[in-house]
Amino acid sequence: MNDSPDARTAELSERLQAVRDRLDAALAAADRPAGSCTLLVVTKFFPADDVRRLLSLGVCEFGESREPEAGRKVAEVLADWHPADPGDAPAFDMIGTVQSKKARSIARWARTVHSVDRPKVADALDRAARAALDEGERTDPLGVLLQVSLDGDPQRGGVVEAELSALADRICAADALSLRGLMVIAPLHGEPEHWMAETARIHTAFRDRYPDAAELSAGMSGDMEIAVAAGSTCVRVGTAIMGERPLLSQ
Ligand SMILES: *Cc1c(COP(=O)(O)O)cnc(C)c1O
Repeated sequence: MNDSPDARTAELSERLQAVRDRLDAALAAADRPAGSCTLLVVTKFFPADDVRRLLSLGVCEFGESREPEAGRKVAEVLADWHPADPGDAPAFDMIGTVQSKKARSIARWARTVHSVDRPKVADALDRAARAALDEGERTDPLGVLLQVSLDGDPQRGGVVEAELSALADRICAADALSLRGLMVIAPLHGEPEHWMAETARIHTAFRDRYPDAAELSAGMSGDMEIAVAAGSTCVRVGTAIMGERPLLSQ
């Protein structure tokens, strides 16, 4: 892309600023320090060119949700990103459901996986991250957030609270993984305030037990303010910045 901003860049810039303003206001309203919650821009279903546009606007942290779309897009973006470019190197997190057979490719590109919810996936990611470290495809252990199920719905995924510490202990014992905290997707039924209050309670107990894993990935386009009030350290925002996803997407 050349330097003259196109219409899409202008649109992304405007929506990005609106979301940053919402995030700043939510942090201020919750009496939290500015910058204490990261904005992860969810670029699933949008092309590598949009990621490049966002990089030019100073975004460097992205969320992707499925393979092989994500791996291809990351490779495309990194192929023409140079360390001399302004801004930090782009980082990509996996936020969607992980299939064990995709673990090896995810371990090549993901900084952190937000959606680990069962031992089988944890073990597959550990083996995959070990292989990626051995092959020089990554330099750091793979970050892990445990996706917590607030209502036990298997459709949305997540580990129920009663099984959370067994899974956390398993991650702690895996040397190619690094436990960073928790992730939630609020159920669509019920009150978001109720689900985020539950999230805050579970997160506080978890942080006491695993003080090095204090991250909380919570909040999306529709509920980021409530999530920030509940202690989110990372909101994952797609639609409010990128626009509506194609109907084929989830
Ligand atoms: C798509 C997605 C998001 C972004 O949701 P929006 O409502 O578009 O902001 C956040 N988290 C996960 C896990 C997603 O799959």
